[in-house]
Amino acid sequence: MRAVTLPDSTSAEIMKLPIMEMFDTLQGEGFHTGKAAYFIRTAGCDVACHWCDVKASWDASTHPTLPFEKILAAVESSNAEIVVITGGEPLMYDMDVLCAFISEKGKKVHLETSGVYKLTGDFDWICFSPKKFKKPKEEYYKKAQELKVVIYHPNDLEWAEEHAAKMHRDARLYLQPEWSRRDQIMPMIVDHIRANPRWRISLQTHKYLNIP
Ligand code: SF4
Repeated sequence: MRAVTLPDSTSAEIMKLPIMEMFDTLQGEGFHTGKAAYFIRTAGCDVACHWCDVKASWDASTHPTLPFEKILAAVESSNAEIVVITGGEPLMYDMDVLCAFISEKGKKVHLETSGVYKLTGDFDWICFSPKKFKKPKEEYYKKAQELKVVIYHPNDLEWAEEHAAKMHRDARLYLQPEWSRRDQIMPMIVDHIRANPRWRISLQTHKYLNIP
């Protein structure tokens, strides 16, 4: 468990976050698919993917700002051992303190990020999902355990390879069809993985299961 060291006088200012939603579910995507997880979806994102399935998260001002106390109480109410911080783009905010508090509760803290902001927080697992619409920071190629590329257009497979080439050698690589185009894109992903077996497929299994 990690010790929580709070910055002195500014603590009150940083002990809150704009939150779109929090919920108990199973992780639907990537390496940890199928595991029970408590999701914290921060509000605010300026990456502007045209196919984004959580556009309601973009404008942080339309969502409540919750004190960490409330977020942690919700985390503690879940049996899940994994807490996934997703967005929106969570790293628009400093994650150092929230991560430490969640770890202190004995939970694993996972991050889902586009990588466009500096990494803060000590995460047990980082899923890095770069987007064409805003360049990610270089640090994620070294620090993320997982690369997940959403494939909307066939050309995106080539783009995915450019990112994979920059990842460290132990990184897990996932290709995920963009949901609205999954029927057209899936066969291309299957062919690509057969030809390039370092990749695996990630399906949004929560959508097939009709769970959050
Ligand atoms: Fe949506 Fe994620 Fe893209 Fe932001 S980075 S626009 S939340 S898909």
